[in-house]
Amino acid sequence: MLGPLEVRTDDGGLADVPGARLRGLLTALALRPDRVVPKASLVDWIWGEDPPADAANALQRLVSRLRKALPEAAIEGQPDGYRLRVAPDAVDAARFERLVSAGQARTEDAAQRARLLREALELWRGAAMQDVGLLDSAAFDAAVIRLEELRLTAADGEQAVLPVTVPSLPEIPLYSFASPANRAIYITVDDGWTPSQKVLAIMRQTHLPVTAFLIQKAAQENLPYWRAFVAAGGTVGDHTVSHPFLTKLSLGQATVQWGQARRVEGKWFGHTPVLGRPPYGAFDPTVEAAAYRGGLTTLVGWSATADSDGIETWNGKPLEAGEIVLLHWIPGLGAQMVKLLAAIRAQHLVPTPLTPASFAGQVPQQHSLSGD
Ligand SMILES: [Zn+2]
Repeated sequence: MLGPLEVRTDDGGLADVPGARLRGLLTALALRPDRVVPKASLVDWIWGEDPPADAANALQRLVSRLRKALPEAAIEGQPDGYRLRVAPDAVDAARFERLVSAGQARTEDAAQRARLLREALELWRGAAMQDVGLLDSAAFDAAVIRLEELRLTAADGEQAVLPVTVPSLPEIPLYSFASPANRAIYITVDDGWTPSQKVLAIMRQTHLPVTAFLIQKAAQENLPYWRAFVAAGGTVGDHTVSHPFLTKLSLGQATVQWGQARRVEGKWFGHTPVLGRPPYGAFDPTVEAAAYRGGLTTLVGWSATADSDGIETWNGKPLEAGEIVLLHWIPGLGAQMVKLLAAIRAQHLVPTPLTPASFAGQVPQQHSLSGD
């Protein structure tokens, strides 16, 4: 569970457990290995505040589906709950917690403590329960956050006694500037639902690198255009499924907004986006953790905007190297792009493709941005 969900049977095979609720049920049982988990907790874990009318029956149906996916007798029914018959140490999350507590208890033996904490950290293969996908479960979100926090605590504790590399953090930062090397400037175009043939023509004629942060639903409206955009050298970034305020969503919901959009866009365009831009420039640690869990490597803000009123930079000065410019797919974008390119030339700047490497050595942005 400390990464992509993997269910290994005694004969070494992998069991396939499909669907968010089935996976949710399994993780709820596995977090308390070989102990009876009350039915009420399971209903709360799976459905949160919005359980089905006949929750007891719905749970029972889910359990019988899970039984079919798992080896025989893996789930034991009790009058008031269900038990997953598995050795506690066979569940990575349970083993992780045991090793961390054991490590933390060794206050007098630094080497032994570091060994236990390192062993615990090595169990991680990704983000906690990253592909379980329960959307409305506060209990699930709390368990994810608890495991991720314990991971950071363990990494801190290990660092205190031994200089080792801390595993990658479960949040990814947002940047408003990218590398200014070689007088680079970066052109990004966000939502708006009107593809521009003029921009496509400019890209084809001048090999102009443009990153489009696409809303999945907007992309779907004009798939042939976006395929032509990619063929012309354009890069597609993740602007979520439906453009919500991510800061108002739960961790699970925000993860789906990032993860689903990039997976679907990857199928459509042949490259799965790794750069994401939060709608309205709104982000916080939960949004950043969701981006990590959704599979992104970097969040991208902006430092300048261009629209029909002209160009506006963060400091009111002419465009400078390293700036990320934001435009929108709206009527008139072609003319706005022509004006922007003239301003870019006037400053002797070079439009450059935006990649994760563009952010090396940059300082993350601390606050949400204004715009969309
Ligand atoms: Zn937007």
